[in-house]
Amino acid sequence: MATTGTKQDHDHGPKASAHAESLPGIRYLIAVGSGKGGVGKSTVAVNLALALKHFGGNIGLVDADVLGPSIPGMLGLPTGEQLRMTSDNKIQPIECHGLQAVSMGLVTGDDSPAILRGPMVSKYLRMLIANVQWSTLDYLILDLPPGTGDTQLTLAQSFPLSGAVIVTTPQDVSLRIARRGLRMFETVNVPILGIIENMSTFTCPHCGKGTDVFSHGGGERMSRELGVPFLGAIPLDAEIVTSGDAGRPIVLEKPNSVAAKAYLAIATELTGQLLGHSSAALRPFAWNWETGDGEPLWVKAAVRPQGSPTTAVGFRRRDERTISILWEDGHRQDFDVRDLRLACHCALCVEEMSGQPLLDPKTVRPDVAPRTVSSVGNYAFSVNWSDGHSTGIYAYTALRELGEQSATGDVVDV
Ligand code: ADP
Repeated sequence: MATTGTKQDHDHGPKASAHAESLPGIRYLIAVGSGKGGVGKSTVAVNLALALKHFGGNIGLVDADVLGPSIPGMLGLPTGEQLRMTSDNKIQPIECHGLQAVSMGLVTGDDSPAILRGPMVSKYLRMLIANVQWSTLDYLILDLPPGTGDTQLTLAQSFPLSGAVIVTTPQDVSLRIARRGLRMFETVNVPILGIIENMSTFTCPHCGKGTDVFSHGGGERMSRELGVPFLGAIPLDAEIVTSGDAGRPIVLEKPNSVAAKAYLAIATELTGQLLGHSSAALRPFAWNWETGDGEPLWVKAAVRPQGSPTTAVGFRRRDERTISILWEDGHRQDFDVRDLRLACHCALCVEEMSGQPLLDPKTVRPDVAPRTVSSVGNYAFSVNWSDGHSTGIYAYTALRELGEQSATGDVVDV
């Protein structure tokens, strides 16, 4: 049997992240990231949330920058307070400027960033996203910690992100950093919705003339080179700082300013990008194979000729032994369920260091079948098998490859 090479479950951390948490009631989950700190990522996250709010709908904001939370300050929220909990032990988001917001800053205070180890950071993040009493949301914006390390990856693996936005400054045109970020999101099938150039041209408040203090156009050039959309540029503007410091971000404070209009234009562009991305079409699922409860959709409308060969846009139980996957590029592959069980690449089935198989096919019953099939982020599913096995993750990239190498997984045009 071909290797499934589920690289992610070996290379990147905790098994807990294997179980994607679905977020019912949240339409789009958007991560705002940056290669490094200080580029204005949190300022963008807050103003973007307010710009989306300006166009209507319910918007949530998570200050996922657990180690340096700055959103409470920008929204003018009190710090050092206990998070309020509901009777069923969920966090109650704070209502502020029409947004629903949660932040570690509400617990730790802006000036005392929590000293937390990586796994704890991931744990808090999951709590701040999944264990919150959100009302129905059109957008949930996550202000990620800077960088592209394990925390960001765990998050991308744990939640069905609709896409990521990368903030950069004109002088921070380190393609290396941006590429690393893009690749990280790509390995877990999180679409890059675009790059935002922050602190771009400085507009003189007196004469209105633009000056490129830190040069300009780096973000746009970067997007072209990396083949991702450019969402827009935000000027370098002292009022962005003063309004942020005063707890009334510029989109609220000066909605007609050049800077506020730039955020509004970016929000419009972002909405357009989301509508064009089919991977947001398939909602998270936990599918009971026997009864068919929770069966995911078969989103044929998401198929595009230029679509990704490893983005799944549909699943079906073809017969009791066969699972079909519809790929965004319009192909379908059918997999025998026992073949999938045998192809499990988890640490119990394959020796991690040597890659030697540990699972003896003779010990796998011919009638082994899934009990449940559950989505893992946008990039994989996990299976709870009738023989009690449940630790493997089937990454879509690996499944596509597996299908192309085995007789049952032949690619068929739909
Ligand atoms: P990050 O989240 O990337 O660490 P912040 O959003 O905290 O960055 O912003 C860092 C500083 O830069 C803040 O003082 C903020 O007010 C300022 N800033 C952000 N965007 C702009 C801008 N377009 N023009 C001027 N100052 C900005």
